[in-house]
Amino acid sequence: MYAERVLSGMRPTGSLHLGHYHGVLKNWVNLQHEYPCLFFVADWHALTTQYDSPQGIEKASMDMLVDWLAAGVDPNQATLFIQSKVPEHAELHLLLSMMTPLGWLERVPTYKDQQEKLANKDLSTYGFLGYPLLMSADILIYRADNVPVGEDQIPHVEFTRELARRFNHMYGREPGFEDKAREAVKKLGSKKARLYEEMRTRFQQNGDRDAIEQAKAVLDEVQHLSMADRERLFGYLEGTGKMILVEPGYLLTEASRMPGLDGQKMSKSYNNTITLREPEESVAKKVKSMPTDPARVRRNDPGDPAKCPVWQLHQVYSDDSCKEWVQHGCKTAGIGCIECKQPVIDGILKEQAPMRERAQVYLDDPTLVKNIVADGCEKAREYARETMRDVREAMGLEYH
Ligand code: SF4
Repeated sequence: MYAERVLSGMRPTGSLHLGHYHGVLKNWVNLQHEYPCLFFVADWHALTTQYDSPQGIEKASMDMLVDWLAAGVDPNQATLFIQSKVPEHAELHLLLSMMTPLGWLERVPTYKDQQEKLANKDLSTYGFLGYPLLMSADILIYRADNVPVGEDQIPHVEFTRELARRFNHMYGREPGFEDKAREAVKKLGSKKARLYEEMRTRFQQNGDRDAIEQAKAVLDEVQHLSMADRERLFGYLEGTGKMILVEPGYLLTEASRMPGLDGQKMSKSYNNTITLREPEESVAKKVKSMPTDPARVRRNDPGDPAKCPVWQLHQVYSDDSCKEWVQHGCKTAGIGCIECKQPVIDGILKEQAPMRERAQVYLDDPTLVKNIVADGCEKAREYARETMRDVREAMGLEYH
């Protein structure tokens, strides 16, 4: 059975914090059980905004990889790699740039947003304008079916889908396509071939989209098809020609708003984070110095958890009985703030304990991480090379 591929990447920003864990990594850990996943360090993306200070990128990438592993991303289940170690991404980016209208890039909503947000940087660069295209190349090169995204990133996936369509439309006519497609149909075996033909006719004569989905399901069941034949058959179904680049779908990830130490969203730029592997004493110190409801000046002043950032952390880390204890104790001045913070400290330390343990193995022997990445890069390159062979051929660059 053909399994749908999931692709996701993260810019190397150094040590990750609990916001990354709750917002992204927990989701990755779940996805890796369900799909073949490719997770990559987007180091070239870091350069699109950080081109004037690239010094820390390598260390940040390695630290981030340790954090992924610490969080439970399992290299036996998922492929972990570094974008710049798979130069095919750059080649696809270049080739796509030849056919991407400039207006498409200028229209990407984050383009102007980011420029305004990072006003202290000169982002009127070619690389920055092209970063959505690089992102598309990252996705398309692995023929990823699913990209986990937050609501705000959906336009990027839509952009990628449009690009794939434009590419397939422009270059998808391989010589002898019909003959090759008919040969591929025969490889399905007589029963499945008949079903496929029926669905194809239903779609092409009546425009029946269900028929397309059913035919795709039939193709998904066939294990022995090569990637090239599979794509021909997808293209032949819809009458478009060979589908060289796969239009990705997305898995909408619920936005997690992990609160930081000051009640705002946890973020490095607000300086309100607890890192994934923050030392225990530092966790305790940070939580103990968190601001609380200003009404609680003295121990016997009652307060209101709704006005306190510590309460937001209780909502992440505490069970119902603890939360009741906080509500009652705070409002009646039955508990002090230091007492109230302890279950939060315990909850964070408990969450971090297995991460610390897993990370230690890699910190003791950093070659383990290097080997995981080397294997991952090799595997990713195999997929990428396969796509690039088709892309080059379609664009007339296969010099036989
Ligand atoms: S008792 Fe707890 S919830 Fe109430 S103000 Fe103090 S820290 Fe906040």
